[in-house]
Amino acid sequence: MTQTNLDQHIASTFAKANVRFYHAENLRNLSTYCQARALLCRSELMKRDAVYYTQFYSDEADQALGVLTRVFGNIYDFGSIFARAAKTTPNVYGPITLVFRPTVFAEMLDIAITPQSIATHLADWTNVRVTEASVINEIASGDGYGSPVAGEWQMCELSCENAAISFTSLEKVLVEPIEVAGRRLIDYVRATAANLGVPIHERVYRRPENAAKLADLVALCEALPEGTENSDWKFSETQLPTSWSDLSEAKRKRMPGWCRYFYFGTLGECRLRDFIERMDEADDRTACELCDPGEDRPPAMVNYRPMDDGGVGSSALDVGYCDWCNGISVRCNECGAVRAVYEGEYDEVLDCDGGCGMRFRVVRTGSTDGGPSENVELVDETEDEAEDAEDNDDDDFADENADG
Ligand SMILES: [Zn+2]
Ligand SMILES: [Zn+2]
Repeated sequence: MTQTNLDQHIASTFAKANVRFYHAENLRNLSTYCQARALLCRSELMKRDAVYYTQFYSDEADQALGVLTRVFGNIYDFGSIFARAAKTTPNVYGPITLVFRPTVFAEMLDIAITPQSIATHLADWTNVRVTEASVINEIASGDGYGSPVAGEWQMCELSCENAAISFTSLEKVLVEPIEVAGRRLIDYVRATAANLGVPIHERVYRRPENAAKLADLVALCEALPEGTENSDWKFSETQLPTSWSDLSEAKRKRMPGWCRYFYFGTLGECRLRDFIERMDEADDRTACELCDPGEDRPPAMVNYRPMDDGGVGSSALDVGYCDWCNGISVRCNECGAVRAVYEGEYDEVLDCDGGCGMRFRVVRTGSTDGGPSENVELVDETEDEAEDAEDNDDDDFADENADG
């Protein structure tokens, strides 16, 4: 049977048996796919998103094998196993699963089905790929539990030489029920994939303890240092949360892969989006109260940025710099009031002008190397009391002097 005939046989057999095509991903790549309205091979992904392209542990091997130009997926939803069975692992490729209708296979050319992933078979993959129509029939013979795929073929990998598979056959998007950077992941996915017009669901876990284990894994990734480079990534199965300790060594060793793709491809992307959102929210300007550039010039405007407090949530204050005098104004995110800060007020504790009780201080950093020469910091109550105590000391000192 020629490959073209085999492709056609796969397409018709899988369509008849209702076999679906699954591709698990992280948020960043999903976003690139949504712009292309297609599932892309990795070399195409790299072209379109060189900076944020999530590296795969198998990239080098796959490049050597010349398969980065192929689109990959599975014909069984690996994520469903983790949702229902003990001592299993989630799909390492990501918490978002694209599900394609059985019509998708008719679009594919040079379909290769290998018992395991090509990254596992390596150079042997061309020898182990299915070439017989009878094997295709066997694959689509069902498992007796509702899946159209025979049990021994459920872990197989399917790839094709198309650089892109259009979303015409996309049926739905399944999202793991996790919270990332304080929001449901599905909210980020909806914001990304709303234009596709397909249902987006959170996966339902029949085994809630596995959903809890996934949450532990997310928390662990969130606690890793921010901004790690792909090349500096280090993570071993010994760092896994204790809730993962009942898994076999072989399964535990798969999980650093999940963490890596998640850290760069989903967590990093969520943080980036939150940051941009905060920037956008903060980017409404006010007129500067500190200066007057004169009538021949438009009024001086203050541009705000969230105060850098090291956190990932919304900041309590926005710090604004005037585009004319470079003076500082501080805007309270509690009540919205703007307080222009004169240089003579630097290092003093200042009250929010809106009367909300927020207190802050503009501190000179003494920076001369191009860094910001002032920082704005919140003043909390305990520090406030210390300040009062200090004031009292000063008074005592003044009194002593007066007495002396
Ligand atoms: Zn100004
Ligand atoms: Zn306020």
